[in-house]
Amino acid sequence: MTLLEVDGLEAGYDTGQVLFGVDLAIERDEVVSLLGRNGAGKTTTMNAIVGADLPHVRGGSITFDGTDLRKKQSYQIPKLGLTLVPESRRCFDDLTVEENIRLAANHVDDPLDIETVFEQFPELAKMRTRLSKNMSGGEKQMLAIARSLVANPKMILLDEPCEGLAPYIVRRIESIIQEISQKQNVTVLLVEQNVAVAMAVADRHYILDEGHIVDEVTTERLRTDEELRQEYLGV
Ligand code: ATP
Repeated sequence: MTLLEVDGLEAGYDTGQVLFGVDLAIERDEVVSLLGRNGAGKTTTMNAIVGADLPHVRGGSITFDGTDLRKKQSYQIPKLGLTLVPESRRCFDDLTVEENIRLAANHVDDPLDIETVFEQFPELAKMRTRLSKNMSGGEKQMLAIARSLVANPKMILLDEPCEGLAPYIVRRIESIIQEISQKQNVTVLLVEQNVAVAMAVADRHYILDEGHIVDEVTTERLRTDEELRQEYLGV
């Protein structure tokens, strides 16, 4: 059953249109990636789905679990079971790990028990009282994912979770994505520049180029079709 359906999404900024009719259909329990070169419009797509202030959505429909998201304010969307982990890994610098997670839990009606989240992230459990500003990039990324998960979402959107992280942390983030999908049945839409990460965790991949979805491929096709990777991903 389709959980997230985006149809003909047109969105952009005051400086111009960026998305020209983007269509996505993500089934419950899938892990899907959205790939494309720098500037293709991946982050714009994620932000448009959750109604972040920018970009402006100019056309198309976004339906999540039967609800028209264009009629919702961005603060209402986590309560529907959809959370975004933004590229910037937005955490509150002057709050501790535990305070950051509790604050995210306060925004929804039926959060997970915070201890359940700490069981899943033993690294974070060991640094409950550390201020977010004193954490490494990889630790902050885990905290950002933990903040999303405590909301007990049906689906999470992950915007470049592995950007700038050391290979061993990238492996850990991959296993976290697999766990939240397989053990918690959370549906995942992942934006990645790192095609290897997308191939390791996702079942299916949309290719975005200059604001258009130009292809939708399996991991096998992505692995074997060098021409496709060269043309749209530059790898
Ligand atoms: P990247 O991997 O570089 O983040 P992306 O595929 O996520 O790329 P977007 O960040 O969605 O691409 O950017 C798409 C286009 O929109 C780019 O041309 C970018 O310059 C422009 N853009 C992004 N954010 C804004 C903004 N806040 N105001 C104006 N233009 C923006």
